[in-house]
Amino acid sequence: MKIFVMVDMEGISGICRTTQVSLDGKDYPAGRRYMTWDVNACVEGCFRGGATEVLVRDAHSGGFNLIWEDLDPRAEYLQGSLPERMPGIDGCDGLILLGYHAMAGVPGAVLEHTWSSAHWQNLWINGEKSGELRLDAAMAGDHGVPPIMVSGDDKLCAEARELVNGAVAVEVKRGMSLDGGRLLPKARAHELITEGAERAVRAGRSIPPYKVPGPVTIRLELVSRGRLPVKRKDVRILDGRTYEVTGPSVEEAFNLL
Ligand SMILES: [Zn+2]
Repeated sequence: MKIFVMVDMEGISGICRTTQVSLDGKDYPAGRRYMTWDVNACVEGCFRGGATEVLVRDAHSGGFNLIWEDLDPRAEYLQGSLPERMPGIDGCDGLILLGYHAMAGVPGAVLEHTWSSAHWQNLWINGEKSGELRLDAAMAGDHGVPPIMVSGDDKLCAEARELVNGAVAVEVKRGMSLDGGRLLPKARAHELITEGAERAVRAGRSIPPYKVPGPVTIRLELVSRGRLPVKRKDVRILDGRTYEVTGPSVEEAFNLL
């Protein structure tokens, strides 16, 4: 049983402010610790649930946030710049999206955004408005791997329930604004993540992959005008801030953006 864990930072337990997730933020060193602890709690649960191999991808910003020397020695870690979004996903039995956040524009969601809060406003996959949760679940779906668990705030968990039946949604906080919420204490949050991962790995095979049938069209609405890739022939410009690309799979369409 091989499990792939994508870990983002905004939905990590103990995190509710930009200063904790920005590389130059004053609370970033603490944010890195919290992220590392959630990963260790998740890895523990995976092995309890019967995983034989766990691969963790640090997926926030430049991919170098986890504190390597403090990580659970049973798993392996993908960090830094990588040629693909999920290297090693082929042949995995389940995908865990740990520390994820709601899509851009969800009211009261902690640190909501889609990919880049500075540049991207909204994204649609074959007409369905999507955040990073759907995008990553669908990319793993291209490889036949089901999303078995997510963790984050209540808004992220609601997004997950709508998306995949059967995936375990671990709520480690309740969002109250973009920059604040009601947090579970550390021990309780970690316990829920461990229990959730154990349950998810045990249930893994019964959860179907989230597959988006091709051809896949991704529409992207940017935050600002004047940033469209107007010179490219393979994009369709829809208005001054919005364009579309089409590819045979989610991953290939995404790579065209
Ligand atoms: Zn992030």
